[in-house]
Amino acid sequence: MIKNIRNFSIIAHIDHGKSTISDRLIQMCGGLSEREMSEQVLDSMDLEKERGITIKAQSVTIFYVSQKKERYQLNFIDTPGHVNFSYEVSRSLHACEGAILIVDATQGVEAQTVANCYTAVELGLEVIPVINKIDLKTANPKQVKEEIEDIIGINAIDAIECSGKTGVGIINLLESIIYNIPSPRGNNEESLRAIIIDSWFDNYMGVVSLIRIKNGQLKKGETIQFMNTNKKYTVEDIGIFTPKKISKTTLFCGEVGWIICGIKKINNIIVGDTITSVKFPALNPLPGFKKVKPQIYAGVFPTDANQYVIFKEALKKLSINDSSLFYEIEQSSALGFGFRCGFLGLLHMEIVQSRLEREYNLNLISTAPSVIYEILLTNNQIIKIDNPNKFPKLNIIKEIREPIAKCIILSPPDYVGNIIVLCNKKRSKQISITYYNRQVSLIYEIPMSEIILNFFDELKSVSSGYASLEYEFHKFQISNLVKLDILINSEKVDALSIIIHKKNVQYQSRKLIEKMKESIPRHQFDVIIQASIGNQIIARSTIKQLRKNVLSKCYGGDISRKKKLLKKQKIGKKRMKKIGNIHIPQETFFSILNMD
Ligand code: GDP
Ligand code: MG
Repeated sequence: MIKNIRNFSIIAHIDHGKSTISDRLIQMCGGLSEREMSEQVLDSMDLEKERGITIKAQSVTIFYVSQKKERYQLNFIDTPGHVNFSYEVSRSLHACEGAILIVDATQGVEAQTVANCYTAVELGLEVIPVINKIDLKTANPKQVKEEIEDIIGINAIDAIECSGKTGVGIINLLESIIYNIPSPRGNNEESLRAIIIDSWFDNYMGVVSLIRIKNGQLKKGETIQFMNTNKKYTVEDIGIFTPKKISKTTLFCGEVGWIICGIKKINNIIVGDTITSVKFPALNPLPGFKKVKPQIYAGVFPTDANQYVIFKEALKKLSINDSSLFYEIEQSSALGFGFRCGFLGLLHMEIVQSRLEREYNLNLISTAPSVIYEILLTNNQIIKIDNPNKFPKLNIIKEIREPIAKCIILSPPDYVGNIIVLCNKKRSKQISITYYNRQVSLIYEIPMSEIILNFFDELKSVSSGYASLEYEFHKFQISNLVKLDILINSEKVDALSIIIHKKNVQYQSRKLIEKMKESIPRHQFDVIIQASIGNQIIARSTIKQLRKNVLSKCYGGDISRKKKLLKKQKIGKKRMKKIGNIHIPQETFFSILNMD
């Protein structure tokens, strides 16, 4: 019955207890035995296997009998994957009427608490504040409530106090969910409309999608149509996760579940599309999701050119599970054929690269990430550049604009001095600084290119780990930038070019070259690295030739040592690309990221 359904997401800053509370809810109301509980939930690898390649967007259906003895169906969607990208969170929230905002009673409000809560509020969800970890001695729920009211600005008088660890307060949380979160709208008699929240590719079943039925009902065996692409399919199987994958014959209005239509060929973006029935089609699709724009771009290349085709197929499959991933063919004279990929941030880039390597058995090398630049040409045309190599000739550039992020940093007052010093080094502009009881909120405008270097790590290090950061694209702004080319033994290596700020360009390029020098192994000949702007060399360094052959050390020595050494060298060769006759490892491309 629709009036007894509650759909909600759990949002929180990282480590505040999202997973622990989810597990606790499943344990108290879920369809798992004690033994399965420890096998399935706590060991998510099992779940991962069962569901196919990923459990990025976990949805779980549980049944709760309230204190008034009424039975409720609760569908909760764990905010998927990398929580620091509010886009992933916002997709889950689209499928819900409410959100549980968990705040650690010992840590208080942090940057992601604020960002995720605002996303929920913007989407019109009922937000239930929850103070977790009250079992800890240092818990201070009263102060955290004040912080929620001061910093976020939502009412927290009735915030639930609980502990995911001991289970205290969890019943109050369940009761609050059924009283405060509205039941879904719509009814079973309307024409079917279901929104696709997430999809992933399973080698046996093809595309599996997570959907939320907004209107009508969906039956196994019926013919459905994707409203944006007009593609028709037969529903092969549908069901829910409890978290076990359970098949059902019908998904009713308001429910969240999975659907399999035997889709093996992927040509369209599926996430965000609306499913309707062919027999009684709906007139209009549901509004899809706001399209996200990648914030950083990098060239990704297989180290073995023969892997190009597998790589292409892998990207195609992965992108149905990750619609924020962008890619297009890129050809580099140094690295050969690969793809220019767009990511939401560095963490996203790391995750994608390691998923591609792990799940598709690839060996990849990527260039330093670059932000997107807006360039005004002398003919007044504006172009966007996501690749340093596509930078136009200097004489036709009128103006270069770089992306600026708006950042919110939350920190205890003790570290504010350090943080300001750090931000000043990053060409930033302070917008505001507000003191609350235990936390200070600093708002800054910082060039995106500075943030994607190691700003986050530096922020953590100057604040002993206490400061938290959240940022989003704000605007393009004129900036004094140049393209720096790198030459190795006098050959320009296109894949190593970067865009940097003119201020300190001498110093920066010398440091960059030193970092590169550290990363490139010695060869049988001297390797000269140079940095240039246009035709002017501004920095230079030499990697001296190798004197002795590695093996000569073992000459006459025992054979096993020789083998060991060769094996070590082989491992060392991983993620290395031969450019001309010089071996360049992954770290060389990331030198700019490793400068402090
Ligand atoms: P998530 O990143 O939000 O999913 O956080 P987790 O659920 O993984 O929890 C982060 C850490 O906090 C883990 O070490 C948990 O064991 C611990 N934790 C979570 N809830 C509680 C709680 O209520 N009390 C205590 N003492 N520890 C908790
Ligand atoms: Mg977690």
